[in-house]
Amino acid sequence: MKTAIEALRRGIPAQRVLTEPADVMSFSFDASFGTHAPDVVCQPLSTEEVVHIVQVANAYNLPIVPRGRGTCLSGGPLAVHGGIVLDFSLWDTTLVISPDDLTATVSPGVLTKAIDDAAKAHGLMYPPDPSSSHVATIGGNLAENAGGPKGLKYGVTKDYVLGLEIVTADGRVVRTGGQTVKNVTGYDLTKLIVGSEGTLAIITEATLRLIPRPLAQKTALVVFDTIVDSGRAISSVLTSGVLPSKMEIMDRACIRAVEAYEPLGLPVDAAAILLVELDGHPLALEDEMKIVKGACESVGARSITIAQTEEEAAELWYARKLVSPAIVRIKPTKISEDATVPRSQIPAMFEALERIRHTYDIELVIFGHAGDGNLHPNILADARDPEEMKRVERAVEAIFDEALRLRGTLSGEHGIGTMKAPFLANELGEDGVWLMKRMKEAWDPNGLLNPGKLFAPPGTKLVLRDE
Ligand SMILES: Cc1cc2nc3c(=O)[nH]c(=O)nc-3n(C[C@H](O)[C@H](O)[C@H](O)COP(=O)(O)OP(=O)(O)OC[C@H]3O[C@@H](n4cnc5c(N)ncnc54)[C@H](O)[C@@H]3O)c2cc1C
Repeated sequence: MKTAIEALRRGIPAQRVLTEPADVMSFSFDASFGTHAPDVVCQPLSTEEVVHIVQVANAYNLPIVPRGRGTCLSGGPLAVHGGIVLDFSLWDTTLVISPDDLTATVSPGVLTKAIDDAAKAHGLMYPPDPSSSHVATIGGNLAENAGGPKGLKYGVTKDYVLGLEIVTADGRVVRTGGQTVKNVTGYDLTKLIVGSEGTLAIITEATLRLIPRPLAQKTALVVFDTIVDSGRAISSVLTSGVLPSKMEIMDRACIRAVEAYEPLGLPVDAAAILLVELDGHPLALEDEMKIVKGACESVGARSITIAQTEEEAAELWYARKLVSPAIVRIKPTKISEDATVPRSQIPAMFEALERIRHTYDIELVIFGHAGDGNLHPNILADARDPEEMKRVERAVEAIFDEALRLRGTLSGEHGIGTMKAPFLANELGEDGVWLMKRMKEAWDPNGLLNPGKLFAPPGTKLVLRDE
């Protein structure tokens, strides 16, 4: 390792090649489970430096683990086999908006919110808005194909990527796609890399599509006495002729946790609330909101309150942002799932989650991007209690089984990483996994790029306990 580190320092300044135990430990975790310290952390600031690191990794057979800000919820940036963590958080130097092309060109460490903020100055919008957008990088968003509340109307990260610069596992620099909205030259490698979780190539630059910013927004708070009614309201709104820009759900446990964390006047006796945002022309929004109101009332909504000012709307969305910090007060260990079901199956998934909560006697809360079926069942537990964690493991398996039974998917946006790898074949089948493994071998024959992610050795089980 000593000679590998010397070789790394021949292409990158020594202060950006970190080996002190305290430094490498700082890069040993993400927002999911497990602690895996790398041997060394490199903090590149150019494509040339990335190429140098990849060449050294090949010479010394060292794993390379790309990392943005470590907010991943599936174990993606963990150095499970040691090696080099490629920390992109310092490389936020390029953020160029081209208003006439409606594009943004960015380096991998730029925060996602900074892209939308820069676009706003030109009357434009970068729609993908993961709830972590103020702390997560575009590189991490691209690698996970991140979504967010606005995915309901505007889609997810992959829908806004025109081109990428990537460094391959053997150190070649390749450009995929380009600057144009349309491009059918050859295979669509851009879409293949987006969502590949750092296992096929390293992203060093992206050209993103921007769209005109809507002129206005309107937000409504809809209150329900049963969670199943809230599920029916989602279908009712989506078939009403109006497509909201956001439709987020919080169940009773979330509402109460947020109110306990910071009292905001949410209805603590409700079974669930939906936050619905419409965007577009201000005149159209008035009429569209009436239609949404009617759609919710027709399936038994208890009340609908429309925010009258931007401040009132901002307060409702602030409540949604508080869910993650608030629920960890229930119990300290949070297991975030994002199993996603077809929209028609949302009420059935709510019923299944209720059954799972009782069967495994767990603290389970539901929030998330309900409008696109991307529920976020979160289990709150205490990792120090092995008996409880065993029940949690079984509950997680049951959530995946139910999502697949309802024609859904293991993950709508958080990725497979280490956490869902043991379940990959349940959704894709053995042949589907085989095909993906062949693609991995073609792109990365020596298995250096983010090993231990997506594909688990046969027989691997989800274990959330120290064994
Ligand atoms: C409170 C909270 C809320 C969240 N809300 C959402 C949400 O609404 N929607 C959503 O989709 N996710 C959400 N997430 C998950 C997480 O923020 C996203 O997955 C995000 O895209 C990760 O970005 P990051 O910069 O932290 O990347 P990291 O966590 O550091 O890495 C994520 C993956 O990307 C790879 N990677 C990073 N940079 C590169 C690169 N340059 N080239 C190749 N691979 C790379 C890593 O190897 C890893 O596999 C949330 C997380 C938290 C903690």
